[in-house]
Amino acid sequence: MQGWAIVETGAPLQEISAPTPEPKGGEVLLEVTHCGVCHSDLYLQDGYYDLGGGKKLLLSDRGVVLPLVPGHETVGRVIQIGPEATGVSIGDQCVVYPWIGCGDCRRCREGNEQLCLKPATVGIFRHGGFGSHVLVPRAEHLVKLDGVDPAVAATYACSGITAYSAIKKIMPLALDEPIAIIGAGGLGLAAVKILRALKYENIIVADVDENKRRLALSAGATVSVGSKDVDLTAAIIGAANGPIMAVIDFVNSTATANASINALAKGGIFVPIGLFGGDLTIALPMIPLKGLQIRGSYTGSLHELRELIALAKTGALEALPVELVPRAQANDAIDRVRRGAVQGRLVLEAPRF
Ligand SMILES: [Zn+2]
Ligand SMILES: [Zn+2]
Repeated sequence: MQGWAIVETGAPLQEISAPTPEPKGGEVLLEVTHCGVCHSDLYLQDGYYDLGGGKKLLLSDRGVVLPLVPGHETVGRVIQIGPEATGVSIGDQCVVYPWIGCGDCRRCREGNEQLCLKPATVGIFRHGGFGSHVLVPRAEHLVKLDGVDPAVAATYACSGITAYSAIKKIMPLALDEPIAIIGAGGLGLAAVKILRALKYENIIVADVDENKRRLALSAGATVSVGSKDVDLTAAIIGAANGPIMAVIDFVNSTATANASINALAKGGIFVPIGLFGGDLTIALPMIPLKGLQIRGSYTGSLHELRELIALAKTGALEALPVELVPRAQANDAIDRVRRGAVQGRLVLEAPRF
C-alpha cells in the first residue's frame, strides 16, 4: 500500500509505501476511493491542539505515533474479508466509521465508541484514508452506501456525524423553534442541511465571512447575521425574536461562546463543537437560575452515522458542496484548508476513480 503520511510534525506529508495488510479474524480490507480532508488533519500535522492562552494539547501525549497516514473520512471498496468478518461482501462500497474504541468497555458496549478512553481512531491512531488501503478492525464499522454519492458520504464520517450528533443533543425542539448555528464552514453548512432534512424551519447562521453567510442561506438557513463588528448576542436574540433555546457553536472561541450563552433563553442549551480555543467565564448562579445546559459533543456514534446515511438515502438530505482533488495533491489540499481557501469540503480521490 501507499499513502501520504505525517512523518514529522509541522512538515509536509510524505509519500510512503508499506506492505498491504492481510485481514485477520474479523478485519476487513478496503481499497480507498475517497477521503475527506478535515481541520483535524491540520492539528495532526501540527502535532497539537491549541487550547488558547499559549496552552497546547500535544497529540504525542495522546498516543499518536508517526509516521501516520491521516484521513478519517474514508470511503472504500471491500477487497478482502477476514475469516470471521460478516455482513459485508467483496465489492461493497462503504463509509468507514472511524471513531473506533476498544470494543470492550462500557462506553463501547453501549454504542458510544467515540467516548472510549482507548481510542483506535482510523486516521489518527491507525492508518487512514490518505492511503491506498484501509484495514478496518471489525466489519460493523462499515456502513454501505447503496447509491449515496461516495464523495459526500465520506464527509459524513466526521463533519456529517459531528453536525448530526450536535443537532441530536439539542432535540427535541418544535420544528419552528429558532436554532442558531455559529460558523458557516463545512460543519455549519452540514448542520444547516441536516436541520433542513429534519424539517426545521427557523435556522439562524452567524459567520464573519459574507460569502459563507450567503452559502448558508442558499443551503437553507432562514437568516444570517454577521459576527465580526456586531454584538453577536443582540444579533442572535434579534434574529430569533427573543432569547433562543439552542445554539450550536462550530467556532467555540471566547467571544462566540460568551455571546451564545448570553443569548440563551431559560432552559436553553449551548453545544460547543469548534476547537478555536479560549476560555469561558460564566457567573455560576446563572446556570441553575436559568436552567442552562452546556453540552459538549465529540464527533458521533456509529448508530448516528447509520442514521445519517439512512437520511441521505431518503433523498431529503441535500449534498454538501464537495470538491474532488487527486490524492497525489494531498499537501496542496491540506494547505488550502489551512488558508481557509475552501467552500464546503475537499475530498481526495484515488487515481483511477
Ligand atoms: Zn472502549
Ligand atoms: Zn474530522
